[in-house]
Amino acid sequence: MSLDTLPGRFAYNEDHEAFRQTVRSFLQKEGVPNVTAWEEQRLVPKDFWRKAGEVGMLCPTVPEAYGGLGLDFGYNAIVDEEMSYNGVPAGFSLQSDIVCDYIVHYGSEEQKQEWLPKLVSGETITAIAMTEPGTGSDLQAIRTSAKKDGNHYVVNGSKTYITNGQNADLVLVVAKTDPEAKPAYKGMSIILIESDREGFKRGRKLDKIGQDAADTSELFFEDVRVPITNCLGEEGKGFIYLMSQLPQERLSIAVGTQASAQKAFDETVAFTKERKAFAGMVFDFQNTRFVLADLKSKLQVGWAHLDWAIQRHLKRELTNEEGAAAKLWHTELQWEVMDKCLQLHGGAGYMNEYPIARSWRAARVSRIYGGTNEIMKEVIGRKL
Ligand SMILES: Cc1cc2nc3c(=O)[nH]c(=O)nc-3n(C[C@H](O)[C@H](O)[C@H](O)COP(=O)(O)OP(=O)(O)OC[C@H]3O[C@@H](n4cnc5c(N)ncnc54)[C@H](O)[C@@H]3O)c2cc1C
Repeated sequence: MSLDTLPGRFAYNEDHEAFRQTVRSFLQKEGVPNVTAWEEQRLVPKDFWRKAGEVGMLCPTVPEAYGGLGLDFGYNAIVDEEMSYNGVPAGFSLQSDIVCDYIVHYGSEEQKQEWLPKLVSGETITAIAMTEPGTGSDLQAIRTSAKKDGNHYVVNGSKTYITNGQNADLVLVVAKTDPEAKPAYKGMSIILIESDREGFKRGRKLDKIGQDAADTSELFFEDVRVPITNCLGEEGKGFIYLMSQLPQERLSIAVGTQASAQKAFDETVAFTKERKAFAGMVFDFQNTRFVLADLKSKLQVGWAHLDWAIQRHLKRELTNEEGAAAKLWHTELQWEVMDKCLQLHGGAGYMNEYPIARSWRAARVSRIYGGTNEIMKEVIGRKL
């Protein structure tokens, strides 16, 4: 089983597809055999990041001047597809599809030179911390503050559900530099905080219902002093920067969810052709074939839509609403595929030793993170 068997894709060129083979070989050698151990440890080791950096899998769009390959987002999408299809859980997409672009687009020359080469090599692992115990969807209600004191900011507050929180060496913290600003978004900034700063503490590695190996954590900031040069771009522009990157972030989720849904489908076809029931195989029931035929049709539409969205993004045409629609649609499809495929597995589907059980648990979060699907509908609906 592999994504090569999908006919008629048009998002990628030959170079992208050659890169796919490199990524897949790497994942099959260094990733897939270790997933169970990583799930038990509930952490992907840093060493895996560095190995991925060596084969060019991290932040492929970073310009060559900063140690990157200077490629297009198609390469990120290839990594996302293969990671999801092969069930390898490291938080690469957060670094490659989200964090690195903030630094590329808004970082100072000094910040770019300091961080981008290390993001590409995997020497530095990053996180982005927006969500707080008291607020998630309503980002403008955050309370973490960054108060100016001479040439420094003093950061106080707490964040939660932060991907890569335990592994992160650098956290992009969304904080209020002007809590009185009206409207509130004008007082928000993104501050780079290195994990060795005094006053920075990691909290619990959170106990989730799925994605066991993915590292999701609480983070605390108690009078953390950072130089004002650690502000990303201009003070007070943080919210605007966050909004500008949303189409890519949401497309990145759509890519991963479509690929994981395809994997669940492929596994289920194989399972039902092997599992005996009554006089034949589970696959022989008309119900099974009808369910699978329905999912196959939706996956086909999904790939066509995804390729359209990737192409639009490569031309910088994907709008905020289209990105939100892609996230909404592909994550809803993923959930439908996972749930129906689990049902076709019978009791085996409820056992963690079967991949479908883990995929089903992992998929539940897709409609929640990256902006909930209710928020996606708000974003789309507002522009009608
Ligand atoms: C595994 C995981 C990883 C994550 N990684 C990160 C990360 O790396 N960095 C980060 O900053 N955050 C991260 N998050 C947080 C995630 O983005 C938030 O959980 C999400 O945005 C929802 O916020 P909330 O949990 O506060 O829910 P709430 O905002 O409290 O929402 C609760 C419910 O109310 C609904 N709701 C809220 N507002 C509206 C509205 N206007 N209209 C209709 N319905 C509404 C929501 O859709 C939801 O159903 C992660 C979360 C998880 C679970």
